[in-house]
Parts: sequence; structure tokens; C-alpha cells
Amino acid sequence: MILKTARVSLELLHTFRIARSADDVRESLLVSLRDGGLAGLGEAAPIARYGQSADSAARAIETIMEPLQGTTGDLDRDRISEIIAPLSESLGGEKAVLAAVDIALWDLMGKQTGLPVHEIIGLDPSKTPHTSYTISIDSPRMIRKKVKEAENFSILKVKMGLENDYEIMEQIRGLTDRPVRVDANEGWTKEEALDKIHWLEEQNVEFIEQPLPADRIDETRWLSERVSLPLFADESIETIDDIPRLKGAFSGINIKLMKCGGITEALRLIESAREHGMMTMLGCMIESSIGITAAAQISPLADYADLDGNILIGNDPATGVTVKEGRLILPEGPGLGVELRDDSIGRQLRVP
Ligand code: MG
Repeated sequence: MILKTARVSLELLHTFRIARSADDVRESLLVSLRDGGLAGLGEAAPIARYGQSADSAARAIETIMEPLQGTTGDLDRDRISEIIAPLSESLGGEKAVLAAVDIALWDLMGKQTGLPVHEIIGLDPSKTPHTSYTISIDSPRMIRKKVKEAENFSILKVKMGLENDYEIMEQIRGLTDRPVRVDANEGWTKEEALDKIHWLEEQNVEFIEQPLPADRIDETRWLSERVSLPLFADESIETIDDIPRLKGAFSGINIKLMKCGGITEALRLIESAREHGMMTMLGCMIESSIGITAAAQISPLADYADLDGNILIGNDPATGVTVKEGRLILPEGPGLGVELRDDSIGRQLRVP
């Protein structure tokens, strides 16, 4: 297989501000994996929280070009796991790069077999969940604008964790009564979280994501015993080995392909979470429609979806999953069902 890459700057429609960062642009590495006459597409959206960047991802990709060159032939799920296992070892913390290769392998398998990814797994495309639409931390004027832009969505995800949490929520409730999911991105102390969640319990909120810093599992357990809203882990769950110790602290986990290393690993995480009696949400980074559609393909397995990263950018280089009245609608084509809309990227990836 021949691996090609194209670096793209994804331009955010609005500054994306959360408790720890604010960005106007995020960089992704798009990849293609060609075997014979077919090519699969993938994406690495590096996660700064885990020390990744577009530069570190590009360096990591160089190290796996050669091992992939010796790989060829028809793919099935077992074969993909065999290819991914040694790459996972050698890539270490560069999980977004692993995800890019894994996603491209699934897309290629779909093109070889003529089947969409969801069909290969045996999932019903009419069972996709609704996705939330993210309102990042902003001024009152911009919050009003964002709520208006979210008209097509049935659920809002509201970022919190700075000083203006109450103002943001009061403003949103002045504009809409739609259900809200709150993500504090590790921004609260446990006492602060207790006060704020008690107040949020009266605000038609579905659940709270990552109220406390990732390593405060005992404090999160203390918190979960005192609030009625479910708590979801995001920064606290990196690998499948984290799941057992989160039990009792969190009711569910946020699974992101970029965080865990792709579709193959996400399927294992969903299964493990279920075995531990935990709920699952499929989440995302700021990604193009390649990464988002990959996650959407397995979304019928998840309890919740937060797959809006492609909607928050103004220059999506691909088409794929869409949203209709809040629900994810999967494309019908083989593999991911995504198409590049930018010829220059297609030329770099040698995908027509
Ligand atoms: Mg989160």
C-alpha cells in the first residue's frame, strides 16, 4: 500500500473557545492508502491536550510509510486488526495518526467489497442518533448568533469552565428550551462543580461532560454521589484500560476516533463500556467530513453523538455525513462514502 498525505488548515467559522484554549484554525492531515486501483481516505486531527501537533503527526507518518509498503491484498476486519496492531505499538501516543490509517483501511475495505462501513459491521443506517451542536464559550452577542445557527439541531452542547458559566446558560435559556449537554473540559473544582451542577439540574440539561481535571477520579466519584445528572468522561478516558477505574465516577464515556486510534479501537471501547454498564457517546475534534463521517458510520452503536466538528468549519475539504432535523444521515457510497471536493488535495493524495 502507498500512503500519501495532504496537510489542511481547517478554518473555524467562529473562534473555538473552551476552558483551556481558543483557536481560529486547526490543522489536519488527510491521508490516502492506495492498493492496486483503489484508495481509502483517512484523517488525523492531532489533539494538543495529548501533546500532538500537525508537525508531530507528519513526522510520525514518515515512520510508517515503509511498513505499509509491504502490505497488500484484500482486507477484512481481522486483517485490519493485524495491520493496525504493530502500528499502534510503533506510533505510541500519536493516536490521531493511527486513526488516520485505520479509517483509510476501513474506507479501502469498503471500496474493495462495494459496501458502506456500517453495512460491513451490520448496522442499520436508520438507527443513527441525533448529534448535538457545540456552542463554544463566547460573548452574549455571539452566543445569540450561534444559537440561531443551531436551528437544524435538536440538542445543544454548551462549553463551560470559565467565569461566565451562569450568564451563558441564562442567555441560552432566554433563547431556546432545547435540551443542553454541558462540557466543562476539566474547568471546575469539585465544590464549584457541585454548586453549578445543582443549578444546571433545573435547566433541562441531559448530562455533564468532564467537570473535573482528568486525574481527579475519586473527586468525581464524590461529585457523582451528590448530583442527579449523569457525568461523562472525556479527558479522563484515553484507552480501553481506563474504563474499569472510571466505573462509579462516570455514567458514560466520550469515545473519539482521534483519541483512541480509529474505528477498530472505538468498536472495542463501545463493547467494553457496555460490559461495564456505562453509556457511550461518539465525539470528535475539529475535523473534516472524512473523520466525522468515519465516526458517524458506527454511530448506530452509541447512545449519544456529538459529531459536529465538520459543521464548525468553513472550508470542509470533503463531503460525507449530513444532518437532517438533528439526526445524522449516512452517505450511501462504499466505505466511508466521502468525496473530496478540492482537486488540489485530490492531486496531493492521488485520488481522482
Ligand atoms: Mg469534551
